Amino acid sequence: MTHAADIDRIHEEVTRRNPGEAEFHQATREVLSTLAPVLAKRPHYLDLKMIERICEPERQIIFRVPWQDDRGQVHINRGFRVEFNSALGPYKGGLRFHPSVNLGIVKFLGFEQIFKNALTGMPIGGGKGGADFDPKGRSDAEVMRFCQSFMTELYRHLGEYTDVPAGDIGVGGREIGYMFGQYKRITNRYESGVLTGKGLAWGGAQVRPEATGYGLIFFVEQMLAARGGSLDGRRVVVSGSGNVAVHAIAKAQQYGARVVACSDSAGYVVDESGIDVDLLRQVKEVERARLSVYAERSPSARYVGGGSVWDVPCEVALPCATQNELDEAAAAELVGNGCRLVAEGANMPTTAAAVEVLRSAGAAFGPGKAANAGGVATSALEMQQNASRDSWTFERSEAKLAEIMRDIHARCFEAAEEYGRPGDYVLGANCAGFVRVADAMHDLGVV
Ligand code: NDP
Repeated sequence: MTHAADIDRIHEEVTRRNPGEAEFHQATREVLSTLAPVLAKRPHYLDLKMIERICEPERQIIFRVPWQDDRGQVHINRGFRVEFNSALGPYKGGLRFHPSVNLGIVKFLGFEQIFKNALTGMPIGGGKGGADFDPKGRSDAEVMRFCQSFMTELYRHLGEYTDVPAGDIGVGGREIGYMFGQYKRITNRYESGVLTGKGLAWGGAQVRPEATGYGLIFFVEQMLAARGGSLDGRRVVVSGSGNVAVHAIAKAQQYGARVVACSDSAGYVVDESGIDVDLLRQVKEVERARLSVYAERSPSARYVGGGSVWDVPCEVALPCATQNELDEAAAAELVGNGCRLVAEGANMPTTAAAVEVLRSAGAAFGPGKAANAGGVATSALEMQQNASRDSWTFERSEAKLAEIMRDIHARCFEAAEEYGRPGDYVLGANCAGFVRVADAMHDLGVV
């Protein structure tokens, strides 16, 4: 018995109960479509409605975020926190500030986060949040007022044993600082463990800013090693130029790869001599300028406005910007140009049709819930250091991250074999993550 019909029925019901949430439907379909071999071994999950329970968030919070800009004009944004699953530990997952944020996007991210966090082997549940606020072009003072207003509502739902947010798109060290400051002020508690991604002087952990990008590269090295290769000498393209992209580029180059292109939402740069990470960080992080400024300052670079960064030929492609940024046509272009490996630094950047193109072409594919789990894993290390009032060195933290990524790769690889599709990291990650959460939920009873 394949249980495919049960899974179709459950997914239809999830779609019906959550109308208009396209990304959530996509994320649940992607996971559910791989669970048949798990149900074959654990048919009691069906009677316990384990899949239906995992697809239903434990709590969804939506709130008004009013704030004033520098001219005194009032703005209203919408804030979200979806506390999805706490079977393994406190809700854990980032906050995204981007105009596209809506409930469906937060739910897709929260759903992915459950399995990602499970794969790390650490005691963290899954959650996600954010707001439809656009920090682009806003002054520091405006961003601060927004963050303070956002936290004035959110704080009542947080706590180091309850829910521990971090950053995501549009939320970096600056925003975490303003939110932690407001949390501290309202609660009168220096509760370091309530947010991760903090600055080093006020409870942050070494390697947290680098962790998602570095972890992605550690994971890619494992994928290549499983095929008898390495990153050394490879031609790599990375999309995005934010936190994940910058650190992925830096670490890939340390491993001897040549990263020839990266992008932002307006276009991409091609730099055949290899992306200059210092210049990229100066432009994107210090000046908060557009990527076109990189090309103006680098004699070896050219800028392409609009277009697709996936048109640039490469052997390894690392989507590190946003969801659904690598579609079927882009995947066909990549494999046509000789790309042999795609690994996701972003969450769900590759569409289902694109994954199929890669699979048919025999390219290796590393899904985000495994490949980009280094960020949240290092957040859990930050919580651990906060709880014990300790702080680890950079070297110790990076070595621990590398070990965690090796373990995640092994869990996915072994689960893919156990459930009958060797080399299929999507199936391996989904099954291994699902089983860890579902077994815990089983033990905790119907709650
Ligand atoms: P940042 O805000 O630092 O950077 C985002 C990058 O992606 C920017 O270059 C941005 O371009 C680009 N981008 C954002 N939205 C779009 C869009 N709609 N179309 C095209 N490009 C876009 O975010 P992060 O680097 O932190 O996050 C990137 C991805 O990684 C996200 O999917 C996030 O969920 C995922 N992730 C992040 C983790 C973390 O630790 N930060 C952990 C795990 C996953 P522009 O500047 O023009 O907006």
